[in-house]
Amino acid sequence: MDSGLAREASKFLKEAVAGAMDNYELRPSQAEMMSACAVTIENSGVLMAEAGTGTGKTFAYLIPLILSGKKVLVSTRTINLQEQLVSKDLAFLSTLFEFDYAIAKGRSNYLCLRRLDAFRADNDEEELEIRGLVKWASSADSGDMEKYVFKKSVIWDRVCSDADACKGMKCAKFKQCFYFRARQRWEKANIVVANHALTVINSMLMNDSKILPAAEALVIDEGHALDNVISDQAGINISNRGFDYILNKLLRTDGKGAYKGVLSKSPHLYLAVESLRTEMGLFWVMAKNEFRDRQTIRSAFKLGGLMIKHSASINALVSNIRESATGLFKEDEELELKAAVLKLKAFADSMEVFPEGREGNVRWSEIEEKKIAFRMSPVYPREFVRDNIVSEYESVILTSATLSVAGDFGLTVKTLGLEGSQKITVASPFDLRNQTEIEIKKGIDFKNNDGSLERLAEVILAEASRKDGGILVLFTSRDVMNRTWGLSVEALSDLGLNPMLQGELPNRMMLEIMREGRDSIIFGLDSFWEGVDVQGDSLKCLIITKLPFEVPTEPITMARTEDIERNGGNPFYEYSLPRAIIKFRQGFGRLIRSGEDTGRVIICDERIETKAYGKKFMKSLF
Ligand code: SF4
Repeated sequence: MDSGLAREASKFLKEAVAGAMDNYELRPSQAEMMSACAVTIENSGVLMAEAGTGTGKTFAYLIPLILSGKKVLVSTRTINLQEQLVSKDLAFLSTLFEFDYAIAKGRSNYLCLRRLDAFRADNDEEELEIRGLVKWASSADSGDMEKYVFKKSVIWDRVCSDADACKGMKCAKFKQCFYFRARQRWEKANIVVANHALTVINSMLMNDSKILPAAEALVIDEGHALDNVISDQAGINISNRGFDYILNKLLRTDGKGAYKGVLSKSPHLYLAVESLRTEMGLFWVMAKNEFRDRQTIRSAFKLGGLMIKHSASINALVSNIRESATGLFKEDEELELKAAVLKLKAFADSMEVFPEGREGNVRWSEIEEKKIAFRMSPVYPREFVRDNIVSEYESVILTSATLSVAGDFGLTVKTLGLEGSQKITVASPFDLRNQTEIEIKKGIDFKNNDGSLERLAEVILAEASRKDGGILVLFTSRDVMNRTWGLSVEALSDLGLNPMLQGELPNRMMLEIMREGRDSIIFGLDSFWEGVDVQGDSLKCLIITKLPFEVPTEPITMARTEDIERNGGNPFYEYSLPRAIIKFRQGFGRLIRSGEDTGRVIICDERIETKAYGKKFMKSLF
């Protein structure tokens, strides 16, 4: 389709961008994607753009968006991509063309100056931190928590911006307020960069309480991850931790038995709060006895009657507080009380909805040693995407390196309800066949073969002994990861290497360490299958321990496969297999990150060769 914007963007890329960049190489795949984005921006609609690694997809959508002059929201899954967009891509493009851009974060990322002023430390640790925060706040530019370098904060959640505890324009600090100043920047900016969680939360708010500014175009980068983010954000989560967190804000005891919290000066309410705490404590014990971890809850919920009863108890406490405690405190304390009560009320509301469930939603329990939760999420987020997201923008571009299986977008279209969208696949400009050496290891089958763990540990050690660069070992099971770690960590350290296990350090720190040398070995789960971008010898080998099929008993997976069965389909071929292939491609894509990268991929799951469906995994790669 002919597009004036596409021509303009192409000229800009070839002249302005190429002229300003050393070693710029024209990439046909980038030009093709840019043209498709330009058409969507100019003519409205939804574009699904799958772009292989190295396409330069951010420029492909940013250039036509910037030239269009439209207001744009770009949403990413990872902080890494958010940072790349803001500090590299947009910063560079703004030297060639005049436009404003801003990064948008969730409200709790910003310091609240009113809460900071009103904060009274309970102990030395808090006192020390509050002093540091006051000093930092006096010279901070954005008030963004990420810029606040102070070991692990113990008070941030009590001094960050919170909608329920905000006085808005009536606040004496309104003019200096970090959060509202950030919002002004978002309003003014042509391009606002947020993450999927904020985009999804924003899409659920009424028009008059939206956080993000209205925009004409939306780009969902790392679009493969939108489904999971909606499941996390758009459902219900009733947990012991959430409840304790809210109740402790109202009332808690310190190490010496003294009452703290916003109701600490209301002794007449101590008993009511404590009896609710006991009541809910018993409820969590019963929940733990009755349910397994990640158990789907069908039809009647065994603890439904109790949950409704406890929801009434919470509401009774809310009324009691409103009647007998409000108006007794200073304004700042009153606001904190109001915020905690609103959160308690929202918790009770969720408890009223959960026992009956909602049409098109799946409910399940999450039971771990210290965590007990009841969750509810839409089985498919398609209505949510259509009604809350797509309908809000003239143009939507959903992009990722993995949206299809060999060019078939069927699963992503069905999951996100994007029927009728335009689709484009542009291949990676890298010579992946020649840059990658693939080896398949046999005899590793954790379900059926004893000794598989030992065999996997041997494979890892053999690769590590080559000492030709960093290794990323991708697992699908925490248990297998931990046991393999146990079998190999000592030997890996003896080789003079630097093994790291997911969970021992923050993921970002592990990746930074990996980038700095060529001797790191990361054992990682889900979050390392995507978003990892380590170039050169720092990542030279990828070990895929198992084909990444979702666990069939996972509540959302089970609900989706049952839905397909009910409609006469084949859940394995229509859901499980394409889903696993898309994830496999994500994992595989961690290795080759530039035209110069070379490396080895070791696949420790022989099904990729022995099963008919296994061949589809290999076919999907090149
Ligand atoms: S306006 Fe709201 S967020 Fe800003 S300082 Fe005041 S209370 Fe805090």
